[in-house]
Order: sequence, then C-alpha cells, then structure tokens
Amino acid sequence: MIFIVSSFLVRQGFNGITIWPFVIARNKHLKEDPVFINHEKIHLRQQLEMLVLPFYVWYTLEYLLRLLQYRNRHTAYRNISFEREAYAKENDLNYLKRRSFFGFLEYVKFLFSWVGESFVFFSTEEVFFSFKF
Ligand SMILES: [Zn+2]
Repeated sequence: MIFIVSSFLVRQGFNGITIWPFVIARNKHLKEDPVFINHEKIHLRQQLEMLVLPFYVWYTLEYLLRLLQYRNRHTAYRNISFEREAYAKENDLNYLKRRSFFGFLEYVKFLFSWVGESFVFFSTEEVFFSFKF
C-alpha cells in the first residue's frame, strides 16, 4: 500500500480513493484511522484478486446499474458490491486475515436478483416509463 495525501485527487464528499497500489486520502490524519485504512485495504484486495483493471470495469458498470435501480448517486455508490463488502467489514480489523478469495461475491447476490426482477419489470409498460426519466 502506497499512501498519498491529496485533497485534489479525492472527490468532494469522499475521504479517499484506492487505485492499486495507491491509497489516496483527503488528509494525512486518515492514515491513523484504522477503519478508513481497513476499508481501503479491502478495496486493494478486491482489486488485486481481479487483476486490477477488470475491477474498475465492473465497479463502473455496477455503479451505472445501481443508478438505474436507485436513481440516487450516493445510494448507488453505497450499493456497489465492492462498497457493500468494504462498508460491512471496515470495522472488523481482522477481516482480511480470514476473508475468502473473491469474498465480495457474497455481496453481489442482490445485484443478480435485482437484474432478474428487472427483466420481469421490463416487460411491463410502467418500466418503460421509469427508464425514460
Ligand atoms: Zn469504498
């Protein structure tokens, strides 16, 4: 993990961003925040096990799907499978020691069930409307 402090690189409303092997934090105090560090380390692990680049592709596509699902940027972001895992486990400082390979898949289920429902939903006229907005 290479820790960088930059308020310029981190989007407004966020404390940090992880782009393997870098963790970029809004301010230097976050380096002493074990929960923040654990959250970002979970992302480093996710990125590494997906060989980095596919992680960003999946992350972006899932964000767009979640945006259709929730129509709210923050809710969409919080429900990306990778974020669901990181937020659910950030307080568990020993999580990464026992996390299984591709552990984020446990948090993906909801996406598939939603996609499944949306197909049913798609076949009705109402949905057609909701996608126009
Ligand atoms: Zn995160």
